[in-house]
Amino acid sequence: MSENNKRTEIGDLGEFGLIDRLTKDVKIKHKTTAKGVGDDAAVFDYGGDEYTVLSTDILLEGIHFDLSFMPLQHLGYKAIAVNVSDIAAMNAIPEQVTVSIAVTNRFSVEAIEMIYEGINAACENYNVDLVGGDTTSSRQGLCISVTAVGRVKKDKISYRSGAKKGDILCVTGDLGGAYMGLQVLLREKTVFEANPKMQPNLDNYQYVAGRQLRPEARTDVIHELDELGVVPTSMIDVSDGVASEVLHICKASNVGAVVYEDKLPIDQDTFDVAHEFKIASKTPALNGGEDYELLFTIKQEDFSKLEKNANVFFIGYIDEAENGARLFTEGEQTLPLTAQGWKHF
Ligand code: ADP
Ligand code: MG
Repeated sequence: MSENNKRTEIGDLGEFGLIDRLTKDVKIKHKTTAKGVGDDAAVFDYGGDEYTVLSTDILLEGIHFDLSFMPLQHLGYKAIAVNVSDIAAMNAIPEQVTVSIAVTNRFSVEAIEMIYEGINAACENYNVDLVGGDTTSSRQGLCISVTAVGRVKKDKISYRSGAKKGDILCVTGDLGGAYMGLQVLLREKTVFEANPKMQPNLDNYQYVAGRQLRPEARTDVIHELDELGVVPTSMIDVSDGVASEVLHICKASNVGAVVYEDKLPIDQDTFDVAHEFKIASKTPALNGGEDYELLFTIKQEDFSKLEKNANVFFIGYIDEAENGARLFTEGEQTLPLTAQGWKHF
């Protein structure tokens, strides 16, 4: 605390301002630390032609998940998937994870085993080894923290900072579904709380609920890019909404960008649910978050290799820094691209 006991509210800084402030005095001591704070994963150079990458995330009950609608198996699966996603965002292949949990005595052993069913399924699916972790008690709420480690050839790593003017902005799948799924689940919860006899009916919402409850990391696209000989010039995973991620790439790469609203991939189901909730489907697509697709940039000369790829959508291009990040709307307006603040504080 400073001398005049000034109190700064966390909300005034936001998540990224807080991280910047907490880490501003960090000095890297080891030559093996090739990249510290500031990307989807830290990067280590132990010699040879590969880097090791490492990423960690916390999932906290009441903040990141609500057990009234999050099945325990899905929770375990998601905890692994979101970390694997950060490894993929470096263009790396994950190999190991550790899992740390804090549980209250509200959970039975069988309940915790259900979380591990999901964890094991994800480890199987993403071909990663669970190699350790920590287990402790919690007074209130369930907490799961996962750390993932992966590897990538040095000449194939993709940082957030490599985008260049003229590069094409790509995204690996449809956006906004996870957010609309959350809205549906929250609505059904309210209905259930008001009248416990009403059973949630998710029949018409399978796709968006699935996007929220059981996201997949796009390691499939990482393998595909490798086979096609495409190395993204920059990459980030879409955890906070594509607008926020484009801004991260712009900041780290010191570039501007143009995003075409009408090019944002939106699934028909997401579109329909957004319509039902009376919100424009572009809003969750831009700012929804938790889609865990990959946002990346490619050189123009690589366009032909991905042009017909069903997993890649072209949403804009990288521009000069002076022009900032802009959204070309369907109404042919040009607006500054903005990201909503952090939801958790
Ligand atoms: P992501 O969404 O990809 O997981 P974050 O937005 O959580 O990334 O974090 C951005 C960067 O800040 C990452 O490099 C992360 O390792 C780092 N970071 C986040 N929180 C802290 C912290 N409390 N102390 C140090 N570094 C942090
Ligand atoms: Mg990330």
